[in-house]
Amino acid sequence: MISRRRIQMVDLQSQYHRLETEIDKGIKAVLCSGQFINGEPVKQFAAHLAAYLNVPYVIPCGNGTDALQISLMSLHLSPGDEVITTPFSFIAAAEAIALLNLTPVFVDVEADTFNIDISRIEQKITSRTKVLLPVHLFGQCCNMQSLLSFAGTYHLHVIEDACQSLGARYRMSSGEEYHAGTMGNIGCTSFFPSKNLGCYGDGGAIFTRDTLLADTAKSIASHGQSTRYRHDRIGMNSRLDSLQATILDIKLPYLDIFNERRRKIATAYNEAFAHNEHLLLPNMPEDRSHVFHQYTLRLQGKNREACIQALNEAGIPAMIYYPVPLHLQKVFANYGYRQGDFPVAEQLCQTVLSLPICPELDNQQLDYITDIFLKIIKKI
Ligand SMILES: *Cc1c(COP(=O)(O)O)cnc(C)c1O
Repeated sequence: MISRRRIQMVDLQSQYHRLETEIDKGIKAVLCSGQFINGEPVKQFAAHLAAYLNVPYVIPCGNGTDALQISLMSLHLSPGDEVITTPFSFIAAAEAIALLNLTPVFVDVEADTFNIDISRIEQKITSRTKVLLPVHLFGQCCNMQSLLSFAGTYHLHVIEDACQSLGARYRMSSGEEYHAGTMGNIGCTSFFPSKNLGCYGDGGAIFTRDTLLADTAKSIASHGQSTRYRHDRIGMNSRLDSLQATILDIKLPYLDIFNERRRKIATAYNEAFAHNEHLLLPNMPEDRSHVFHQYTLRLQGKNREACIQALNEAGIPAMIYYPVPLHLQKVFANYGYRQGDFPVAEQLCQTVLSLPICPELDNQQLDYITDIFLKIIKKI
């Protein structure tokens, strides 16, 4: 039997009710303070997030896309400089690159982790390559050990898109562990409501260990100001507001708990689907912890549309992240990429399927989804 709560990809109502007393109190306090922009809650949240991530600088901003744009603007690049990134992701990173008249250079991904294939980067390096921009997709870090050593060899900046992976960790061969977004020169995240740490509107942040980069990014996020009404560079208006910061500060202590629940659900999915030849499961290398922003698998020899329809008819939502690779998007047609340029990414777009995963999904719902999904796979 389906449990009384409707199954959703993301269940923000249930999460709110769990924290309702704290959040209502926090919002009320902001309303009474009358300080909606650059208030104390923003500074406090930035400090708490910096402590959690173990980085000296966290710069809050308006959203994850702005975080990526501000990061790129902080690096003093020239038009036409090349930024290497993945074709299998949400568009934000590639879009920010193109918006700044930089050139996105795509590199194909690994089929089983969905992340950029480091072994294919070298052949794409030119004299104009300035930045590596890996996306830690679906909640799991890229192979950062190799990527960083590579960046060192070729003197490239590294911007990490950690919009889907806040709280994920990566262990270097030295044994040192780092959070997603804290290994390169700059890390970016988003607090869009459905992200692992989400607010009730838009929000984002940049992290760095570099004092100069932190100062530059902070200035760019605030109209290029050095001090008030002194403008040193072209910037943006990109702020996290006090209400969102308050909500995020209340939720931050729960992030690891929520991510642990996501991992439990993913483990249950993995166990249930392990011996099905039609389901190819996500690879989870031992040196990194996955925070399962999405639980995404690949269908083999099954009609994906029919599967989704049957799931929907049983009250189970399922999504395709992502249906079209970035190099084949109309907006990037001018770069001259063609079908067949990135076969792995293209194949993934045809075969991936994401099942519901959020901390509020209960065991009864989980059993129902695995049971129905396996029946569908058998039948279709
Ligand atoms: C959500 C997301 C972004 C953009 O974040 P916004 O806050 O929506 O601007 C960027 N990159 C990835 C991988 C994302 O998932």
